[in-house]
Amino acid sequence: MNIKVIDAHTHVQMILPAYQDAVIKRAQDAGIGIINSGADEQSSKDAVTLTHTHKATWATVGYHPHEALKSPNLEIIKELAKDEKVVGVGECGLDYFKLDSQQEEHIKQEQKKLFAFHIQLAREAQKPLVIHCRDAFTETIEILQSHKNELLPEAGILHFFTGTLNDAKQLLDLGFSFTFGGLITFNRSFDEIIKYIPTDKILAETDAPWVTPLSYKKNAFLKNEHGAAINEPVYVTEVVEWLAKIKEIKQSEMEKILLENTKRMFRLDSF
Ligand SMILES: [Zn+2]
Ligand SMILES: [Zn+2]
Repeated sequence: MNIKVIDAHTHVQMILPAYQDAVIKRAQDAGIGIINSGADEQSSKDAVTLTHTHKATWATVGYHPHEALKSPNLEIIKELAKDEKVVGVGECGLDYFKLDSQQEEHIKQEQKKLFAFHIQLAREAQKPLVIHCRDAFTETIEILQSHKNELLPEAGILHFFTGTLNDAKQLLDLGFSFTFGGLITFNRSFDEIIKYIPTDKILAETDAPWVTPLSYKKNAFLKNEHGAAINEPVYVTEVVEWLAKIKEIKQSEMEKILLENTKRMFRLDSF
């Protein structure tokens, strides 16, 4: 299969099992590779399974910060991280959006501990981090800075990046890249940041099944029970189109650059 673009952060394993083969086939037919990220134990296992049953798919394994209070089994993630088709650690990080105010401090502490585990594991496995950060950029950057010496030169990605220009600068200094997804097809708030970030530090994602790019909201192959579009990797091309537009680069050129960036970050050349 001739890969043109790689959806650098997605969750095909969270789409109904009956649809998964068709979703992957649509991506393959369009030359789109897939990196499925785990967010808990089951979705990490499922992401790994898909890499062994489908071409041009890779996995990352880890616990989303929402799992922090659920006694996550860390040993299982360590084991999964050894698989050769696991190319990164995460998604992991901090999510302080709408925390239960009664338990706020406790939740933050547990999330930080869980995040530190992943940073350590990324170092042991020598695989980049896939970071989820919502409303917690200051703390995320603080933690990463305190582990600066443990990070890889290509330290990982901040997926679905929504931080400020200043956050981006500090994360660039730590060796991170950034993925952008469907949001940038209908929200112009990130254009300035995308213009600022060096082109070789940008990757494209869908974060499917969520946040469908604008033009597929009405024309999606799959809909959920409420009639809303289900996002899938083949729609990543619309994200690429917008990145090209914002960066004022030809789309075919942008595709090449994004592919290079993704292969370099996740060391996909051996595949
Ligand atoms: Zn996320
Ligand atoms: Zn995600």
